[in-house]
Amino acid sequence: MKLSRRSFCACALGAPLIAQPAFAQAMACDVMTPERQALKTPDEAIQRLKEGNLRFVQGHTVNCDLMAQAHQTATYQSPAAAIVGCIDSRVPPELIFDQRIGDVFCARIAGNFVNTDILGSLEFATKVSGAKAVVVLGHTSCGAIRSAMAGVEMGNITGLLSNIRPALPAATEAGGTLDPANGEQVAKVTVANVRLAVEAVTARSDIMRGLVEAGELKVAGAVHDLATGEVAWL
Ligand SMILES: [Zn+2]
Repeated sequence: MKLSRRSFCACALGAPLIAQPAFAQAMACDVMTPERQALKTPDEAIQRLKEGNLRFVQGHTVNCDLMAQAHQTATYQSPAAAIVGCIDSRVPPELIFDQRIGDVFCARIAGNFVNTDILGSLEFATKVSGAKAVVVLGHTSCGAIRSAMAGVEMGNITGLLSNIRPALPAATEAGGTLDPANGEQVAKVTVANVRLAVEAVTARSDIMRGLVEAGELKVAGAVHDLATGEVAWL
């Protein structure tokens, strides 16, 4: 086992926030193989992301040899999870979950909703390639959410934003008018939009509904906080 200098130092200093021995960090650089993927439960696949986000928030991301991982995964891929996230430049799933080559499938689209193409991609990720979890990842201060709330119409953006419209009623459940400058409203729509996408994964895909019913897949929603780096699970 090869320990990176960084993981050795974390061990030597006690690394109280990580609560993982150095060898566990070094193991984080082991690529996902079909064997490792097969042993994982859906809950473990999500736990892996939770632990990665904790490392990210605490500034203890694992420093791996990415080219070594690229070589090792050149002929196969066996990711543990698939993530549907926004295109926002501040929410790269691999970074905020501290994942690397071959670890996760990522589908990114402004507003992190699902459509036929995203669902097909997720069916490939899960049924064909064996990922054990699907995570729909929203984030705070999402421009797509705000734009949908503002009723923006512009080129192809108009059609894109129509996918977020079903979540808008969540903003004004307690009355009042839709206000994209109201942070509380934006947060409510963000959560509702994630929940709708989570529901759609099984409602609109017989394949993934079957996997969930068989206990082979878990679909979860989460929201990333741009300011803290933390991912809150719904
Ligand atoms: Zn966004």
